[in-house]
Amino acid sequence: MSQRPFENTDVICENISYNDLGHLTFAGHDLSELAKEYGTPTYFIDEERVRNRCRTYIHAVKKAFGDKGRVYYASKASSFKRIYEILKEEGLGVDVVSSGEIYTASLAKFPMENSMFHSNNKTDLDISYGIDSGVGYFVVDNVEELDAIDKIAEQKGKIQPVILRLTPGIDTHTYEAVNTGKVDSKFGSAIETGQAKEITEVALKCKNIRLCGFHCHIGSQVFDSKVYIAAAEKMLDFVALVNTSLGFKCEILDLGGGYGVRYVASQPEIDIASNIAEVGRFITEKCKNLEIDMPIICFEPGRSIIADAGLTLYTVGTVKRIPNYKNYVSVDGGMPDNIRFALYNAPYTIIPVENTDTVRDMQCSVVGRCCESGDIIQENVYLPSDIHRGDLIACLTTGAYHYSMASNYNKIPRPPIIMLTKDGSYYAVKRETIERLAELDI
Ligand SMILES: *Cc1c(COP(=O)(O)O)cnc(C)c1O
Repeated sequence: MSQRPFENTDVICENISYNDLGHLTFAGHDLSELAKEYGTPTYFIDEERVRNRCRTYIHAVKKAFGDKGRVYYASKASSFKRIYEILKEEGLGVDVVSSGEIYTASLAKFPMENSMFHSNNKTDLDISYGIDSGVGYFVVDNVEELDAIDKIAEQKGKIQPVILRLTPGIDTHTYEAVNTGKVDSKFGSAIETGQAKEITEVALKCKNIRLCGFHCHIGSQVFDSKVYIAAAEKMLDFVALVNTSLGFKCEILDLGGGYGVRYVASQPEIDIASNIAEVGRFITEKCKNLEIDMPIICFEPGRSIIADAGLTLYTVGTVKRIPNYKNYVSVDGGMPDNIRFALYNAPYTIIPVENTDTVRDMQCSVVGRCCESGDIIQENVYLPSDIHRGDLIACLTTGAYHYSMASNYNKIPRPPIIMLTKDGSYYAVKRETIERLAELDI
């Protein structure tokens, strides 16, 4: 079996390092100390990293599009009160997809006029709650929903601004499960089939709706700006088409989210600023060629704002060796706090916390504690063969789609979220208790 000692390739993000004790540090904090203070399993978020990513996006769109650039954080990546406060301070808008996300944002007094309400199937209750909450734009997926919003807005005596979600027909060659810009996607109306133009015509006839523009979201974990450029090209051609054929002047073009992050050393780290600059040059040129005014251009990053600002700390439990077959290292968390390997086979970097310079000579699967064979956090991980009950291990890049996808399977309480700053650390979300889990039982 190959040996894998202390590796620089573990340092997949600038907030990961090792201190003099040989302990793994995150955002400058010794994880071994944090484990003593907060216990495990625990989600940690590097607040500076989140803020820096927000600023990178804000500066990049400003540079590329002047006062026509906007950034909306896709809440579904991780939605909790404190994150909305930080986003508000950094001047981002937010995407929400449910009344629950709107409610959580409102607890942070987030200015809901800077929000977009997504989802391919908003319930009547969602629509009503969204309008009452003053959501800036509804991103409308289909004609049925357009009718429902029109009716509910009428009952409330309001005119609701909307943008229409279209599918430009771009294949991102990323994961099938997170590929959403194709014609046969469950999301949006396709340009290619003529349905995009149809829904535009319907929207323009709705009396209680103000059509403001178009949206597309091509997928996730996208590393190549060519994909955005291809999407922008199809969308702008459509903008020009409806301008000529329907006399509709598009105010807003939203290009969605999806920029990739680095989960393992073999993946690149994206330079967001230069990528957006590239998209900006293309859009400016394309609008000139089409002789249309450049609309407001929006980006909706989720993962790339918060993923590598997050880390999950676990304590090792059972270590099982099945000679000539496989080794298992179990941790005190699992699929309830990290469903992404089970869902998408998502790769992760997992490293020991205290014995970072020990040779990692044992290939193993890191698994959780649920009654489910699919409860695997990662396969083919290398850990020291003397790893045992009580040791700490860290799973990197868990800021996005972890807390927000967490479940209580096997009645396991969800971990807390601890924010790390230069000066200290604090709770953003408390650890769930077992009593809490049964609170709604009658
Ligand atoms: C998921 C999603 C995003 C964010 O995607 P990331 O890959 O996390 O950047 C943005 N917009 C929409 C409509 C989405 O569904």
